Amino acid sequence: MKIYTDNRLLSAGFIGGTLSRHSGNMCDLSAQNTIYEQLEIPPQKMAHFHQTHSDRIITISDHKNLPPVTPLQDADGWLVTTSGCGAAILTADCVPLFLWDTQSKAFALSHCGWRGIVKKLPFLTAKALLQTGAKHIQGWLGPHIQSCCFEVQQEVADLFIPKSVLHKNGKIFINLNTEILQQLQEAGLDISQIKTPYYCTCGDKENFFSWRRDHIRQNLLSFIYRP
Ligand SMILES: [Zn+2]
Repeated sequence: MKIYTDNRLLSAGFIGGTLSRHSGNMCDLSAQNTIYEQLEIPPQKMAHFHQTHSDRIITISDHKNLPPVTPLQDADGWLVTTSGCGAAILTADCVPLFLWDTQSKAFALSHCGWRGIVKKLPFLTAKALLQTGAKHIQGWLGPHIQSCCFEVQQEVADLFIPKSVLHKNGKIFINLNTEILQQLQEAGLDISQIKTPYYCTCGDKENFFSWRRDHIRQNLLSFIYRP
């Protein structure tokens, strides 16, 4: 099993990261549960939602009261303030945004596609975590489509701040990292604590699924579990 992660997340006592495609397509819960069992995480303690590129965030404050699996609720962000459970999202080019507090151990995980980003989901995710009283927040952006591959039309580019928009050979590209960092800073985070490693899902076929590249519904799993 190959998991992309941030050592600071593990040092803070969490288990989590983004799986490479070698673990298979994580579209269905049974595939995900197999992974949790291998990691000695109780599958019934992992929360799931149905992603709709929205700005909706679900809060979990009691590990005995996770959202239902049937039917899954529509949302794109998690805020977890309790121990003994975790939360998952699925991506295939969208950004898995991981935020956690090293002291309180509250954490947030959101599925940030470009639509969710222009709806300010990163800003709202950071705000939600800050409102728990978290003061020692670190963050990590998991593998996603990077500016080398994320070509857009002008009408999409117009939705982003100018410094996120790149022009190259008559084409337009978006740097989602720049956009997200701007929102996290506006929310009040110290962005020197946010890491943005350059893993491009679209450009690295060996390690990642990519909707943009393959046009097949195959998903990578990102998760955080707090023991
Ligand atoms: Zn790329």
